[in-house]
Amino acid sequence: MSNSTHAPDPLATFSTATILIVDDHPENLQLLAYCLKDTGYTILLAEDGEQCLDLAHSEKPDVILLDIIMPGMDGFEVCSHLKNNAQTWHIAIIFLSALSNIENKIKGFRLGAADYINKPFQLEEVLARVNTQVHLRILRKQLEHQNQLLQEQAKQLQQSAQQARTESRAKSHFMAISSHDLRQPLHALSLLLETLNSKVEHRPLLVLTQRIRQSINALSHLFNTLLDVSQLDAQKIKPHIEILDLNTLAYQLQEEFATQAQEKGLTLTFAYCPKPVCSDPSLLKRILQNLLSNAIRYTQQGSVSVSYTEQDEYLNIIIQDTGIGIAEAQQQRIFEEFYRIDNSTMATSGLGLGLNIVKRLAALLQHPLHIQSRLNNGSSFILSVPYVPATDSEIALSTAISEAHSLSIALLEKDPDTLAITLELLEDWGHHVIAVAHPDSLLKTLSQQDIDLLISDFQDSDTLKLIQQLRTALGYAVPVLFVTSETALQRSTEITISGTKVLAKPVNPDHLYDALQSYPKLKSSRL
Ligand code: ADP
Repeated sequence: MSNSTHAPDPLATFSTATILIVDDHPENLQLLAYCLKDTGYTILLAEDGEQCLDLAHSEKPDVILLDIIMPGMDGFEVCSHLKNNAQTWHIAIIFLSALSNIENKIKGFRLGAADYINKPFQLEEVLARVNTQVHLRILRKQLEHQNQLLQEQAKQLQQSAQQARTESRAKSHFMAISSHDLRQPLHALSLLLETLNSKVEHRPLLVLTQRIRQSINALSHLFNTLLDVSQLDAQKIKPHIEILDLNTLAYQLQEEFATQAQEKGLTLTFAYCPKPVCSDPSLLKRILQNLLSNAIRYTQQGSVSVSYTEQDEYLNIIIQDTGIGIAEAQQQRIFEEFYRIDNSTMATSGLGLGLNIVKRLAALLQHPLHIQSRLNNGSSFILSVPYVPATDSEIALSTAISEAHSLSIALLEKDPDTLAITLELLEDWGHHVIAVAHPDSLLKTLSQQDIDLLISDFQDSDTLKLIQQLRTALGYAVPVLFVTSETALQRSTEITISGTKVLAKPVNPDHLYDALQSYPKLKSSRL
């Protein structure tokens, strides 16, 4: 920014300062004028108060040397006029007087004088004091000048910031409103690739389509991240709070991340969530997707788990990993926009936006978010989601809990005797039961029917596949209660899919009865 258009340089005015000398004795005037002649200052002379006031208004001197005792208006009165006038209040006044008592000096300073010199005066002293006042004037002018420059700069900065905000809003608005149009071709590409994949038999081509799939996935991820940010920036995201069964969400997340975890040799587990919560399903899913994707990316071995704890009116969703962990100094910074920890051992690419989106979405939903982590010792991200408020909860859960006695249960048991006995017991407790002895018949029987719970013996890993198929056919994550023998139970670490519980055979009927109390009637809670 150039200074040339602003106020003139105040230093240039130093030698052109104007001094007005006021005294009713002409010889004093001459003497003082003589004393100041070599300074380069412009000298003005006045013989009384009226003349002084006229010259002060017309010439705007920098300093006035003012006698006190004068015929007509005295120096005090003149000073008072000058100090009470907006045009002249800033002129430095030096009293020159034979009245040397302290009261007069105090009166002079009270009226706003800058200095006071006793008569008879020493010429050098007058010169020095005048110079001091001129210097002070110059400094004041400099300050005013710089202040003015600063104010102009602040105004320009404000204008630039406002313009940047307007442009950024326009950009975000454009991205937000075009998001549908932008997503559409990507979605089409994905579907086309799927079709192509099903028609390709030649192996090298399959490798190629696989690579294209990976690129599309990476592109979709980047794209979704950028769209999320622009939608948040444009304040386009409005939460729609609903009553949610987190087990259904957990099931979708497991479907989405299972392969990724498997490829890295990580165990991915989801606990069963006992109560419904209040949140926006798609925004909550976005948060959990980002946290899970990070947990898997930044974990080389071990596990990633989603579990729940209760705390007052909140359910804490805990996304825990056994990964590289985060040093304490970085734990708040990782939520900043574009912040990434430079970790050369983890060859991962990213924009550094994931956690920023998580933080902004959590704030939008008013879900408190915390992190617990130690370097090289894993991380836990804890999102607190409110339970359904008391009255809604009554509506949502009354059917679920109080009707626990009339659940629709599918019973899979290969041993015919156990099947018959369990069927009788469950029906006695008021449940509607579909009993099958063979896994194949389960899918056929249930494809048309909603159930609240599957009670199954655990046979082998095919049972888990069957459950995944069943859930896909039903379109929701039906909970599973494994009733299984000791040997099978030893293998139960394999039972890592969400919404499952295990009871060991032989089952005490009371334990089975209690266990059934915790299952809601899914059909009603999903409405
Ligand atoms: P990105 O993963 O794209 O770099 P994020 O905003 O999601 O961006 O994360 C910011 C940084 O926080 C990451 O670069 C990573 O260093 C660190 N981080 C996030 N989640 C984890 C985690 N679960 N374990 C260890 N570090 C993590």
